Amino acid sequence: MGLLFVETLSGPKVFRCKFCKVDSASNDDVVSKDFHGRYGRAYLFKRVVNISLGPKEDRLLMTGFHTVNDVYCSSCQQMLGWRYEKAYDEGQKYKEGKFILEKARVTKIGW
Ligand SMILES: [Zn+2]
Repeated sequence: MGLLFVETLSGPKVFRCKFCKVDSASNDDVVSKDFHGRYGRAYLFKRVVNISLGPKEDRLLMTGFHTVNDVYCSSCQQMLGWRYEKAYDEGQKYKEGKFILEKARVTKIGW
């Protein structure tokens, strides 16, 4: 493994990868806290850091058909959630380009 560039978020409220504790997202970038992931509740963010994306996949979610990429922590490679690449339902378009982080896979720092 080479040297990894880890981006640090300026809090005060930050979500971190539960597994390796690098910063994942800022509370300022939360769009919604009322989402459901594979492991229960999940958060929708407009921006996350220190992640890598898996291949594009078409997936049928509770809110319809979407093209998504799984989101992995770039530091420890644990799956943290997914990114909405494309939504097919007009009412779901606002999610395109945004990120889901599973509540069960991140930890809150600062509150
Ligand atoms: Zn991690």
